[in-house]
Amino acid sequence: MSEPTTPEITVTGTAGPGPAVSALAAKAAELDAADELAACRDLFAIDDTVYLDGNSLGALPRHVPARMQEVITREWGALRIRSWEESGWWTAPERVGDRIAPLVGAAPGTVVVGDSTSVNVFKALVAAVRTAGPDRDEVLVDATTFPTDGYIADSAARMTGRRLVPYTPGDPIGPRAAAVLINHVDYRTGRLHDLPALTAQAHMAGAMTVWDLCHSAGALPVGLAEHGVDFAVGCTYKYLNGGPGSPAFLYVRPGLQPSFDSPLPGWNSHADPFGMTPEYTPATGAPRGRIGTPDILSMLALESALDVWDGVSIKAVRAKSLVLTDFFLECVRHLPVEQVTPQSHAERGSQVSLRCENAGAVMKELISRGVVGDFRQPDVLRFGFTPLYVGFGDALRAARVLGEVLG
Ligand SMILES: *Cc1c(COP(=O)(O)O)cnc(C)c1O
Repeated sequence: MSEPTTPEITVTGTAGPGPAVSALAAKAAELDAADELAACRDLFAIDDTVYLDGNSLGALPRHVPARMQEVITREWGALRIRSWEESGWWTAPERVGDRIAPLVGAAPGTVVVGDSTSVNVFKALVAAVRTAGPDRDEVLVDATTFPTDGYIADSAARMTGRRLVPYTPGDPIGPRAAAVLINHVDYRTGRLHDLPALTAQAHMAGAMTVWDLCHSAGALPVGLAEHGVDFAVGCTYKYLNGGPGSPAFLYVRPGLQPSFDSPLPGWNSHADPFGMTPEYTPATGAPRGRIGTPDILSMLALESALDVWDGVSIKAVRAKSLVLTDFFLECVRHLPVEQVTPQSHAERGSQVSLRCENAGAVMKELISRGVVGDFRQPDVLRFGFTPLYVGFGDALRAARVLGEVLG
């Protein structure tokens, strides 16, 4: 285990020309010592790897294996079918949704967990288009979006007889727009889009908003209710540490819940699922976003993982994230890389993307030296900063190893 709170960050050699490494090491030690979230790191299974890929797969909270052991041996193994009721399996999608709600600024009863983000993009987008009038025949999609959102939006537009229109956040939104699908933080560049302003702009134009929060949920305040967002979706295996493929979430604004017309109305979203009637009567509230039988093991791993947020404010997470990414940028300033992520705090998510030659090979080498980020086509090195378990000493070490690899 590396100890981010001790000042003994081993410094040998230099990170090339630039600020003295010892000065940066002193600064890292100072920032680690003042870090109010530093103790959270002990909640995670982190070895001496510098793990900067929590924006792809969050680290394992240490208490989760014991909880999963219990779920498997007692709830599944001993109670079997009784667990749907007695262990609360049936209501887990709404219950876990209520755990996520405060992290994205949503009211209780407005978030449901289940299915993948891709599937939830489909539900939200088709429902948004169905809500808009028939004269609104355009679906606007963030042009640099994560590919799955674009693929799904294209199919949703074709199925609903609309036209897909590439959109750059900030572009004018015309009177024919039915819905606008935007990524809160761009997965490649780490750019944060202005959710309050863009939501207000879409509403002025009479369009519905669908926000993809994959790279912001658990990383920064979102304020879904405060800003009147219509629909939102997001992953739980990134900054929420739910585990590989843990189910995603879907938010529907309270005012839209009664008219929410899901394109995938499975039996779990029925008002009386066990009535087994041929007619479909949708449930009220968040359960209407469900489809079929939830993936209980993944869902309960996520529920357990969310315990690390007890007593943690998302504001404190954001504050640390900005200081951490500022510090990393300071540490790499003199390296031969191009900074892709915006300098401005208002436009920065919780990751730093750098561009360099042979980025794929550079990242492989970094990983072999214990600094794990990832590579995105064509030439981007991504470093995700998860404030709950990444410290300032980690940021410096990552920068120093990057300097060695590039040198
Ligand atoms: C990670 C990510 C996804 C992933 O979708 P899945 O259905 O979970 O594979 C979708 N959208 C964005 C913006 C992402 O960053």
